[in-house]
Amino acid sequence: MVEEQLRGRGIKDERVLAAMESVPRHLFVDIYMQDKAYEDCALPIGEGQTISQPYMVALMTELLELKGDEKILEVGTGSGYQSAVLSMLASEVYTVERIQVLASRARRILLQQNCTNVHVITSDGTVGLPEHSPYDGIIVTAAAPHIPRQFIEQLNVNGRLVIPAGSRFSQTLYKITKTPSGIISSLSTPCVFVPLIGKDGWGSEEAY
Ligand code: SAM
Repeated sequence: MVEEQLRGRGIKDERVLAAMESVPRHLFVDIYMQDKAYEDCALPIGEGQTISQPYMVALMTELLELKGDEKILEVGTGSGYQSAVLSMLASEVYTVERIQVLASRARRILLQQNCTNVHVITSDGTVGLPEHSPYDGIIVTAAAPHIPRQFIEQLNVNGRLVIPAGSRFSQTLYKITKTPSGIISSLSTPCVFVPLIGKDGWGSEEAY
């Protein structure tokens, strides 16, 4: 997975590659999916949600440019796999999931993996998590119809936001950096994520 799907496609950050080498991805999916865990695709995790493709996890993590001392917010805990990767690369990780059953399962697996710097919270992540802000990085792992302003507000100066945004079935991955003189936005790659549902995301009736 690491050599062919990640390094072979241009992921260069050695810390990201090492983290993805060491996190046991198969433990974050159901037992009947474990033989597919290292394949080059997203997989179902129940509740109509997915664990993202390994390359997408690596690319989004690399775009955060982590050195090790950052406080990170992840919106969309899902399986907890991305949180486990982040836990090896940053100092504190707050991760928000709207579906209680997924949050509980992720919390249990993250504890079993000794990811004690990850805090799983069940809530609507479209409003961010103001009580623990500001963050050095925010990663959104579900597709937003637009870029919620509160994510930028909850970033530190020089903080990075990585977020897929666009239409319901096709998005672009954006990297937004909050500099002292304003916002710098760059586009990364086309992508398709499950919808970010909530107050400042898609309505649950329009999402499916
Ligand atoms: N990062 C995850 C992983 O490593 O498994 C993949 C996440 S999955 C592609 C997107 C997740 O975002 C789903 O679990 C979904 O329930 C969650 N989600 C959607 N809208 C949300 C919201 N407003 N707040 C928090 N989580 C949300």
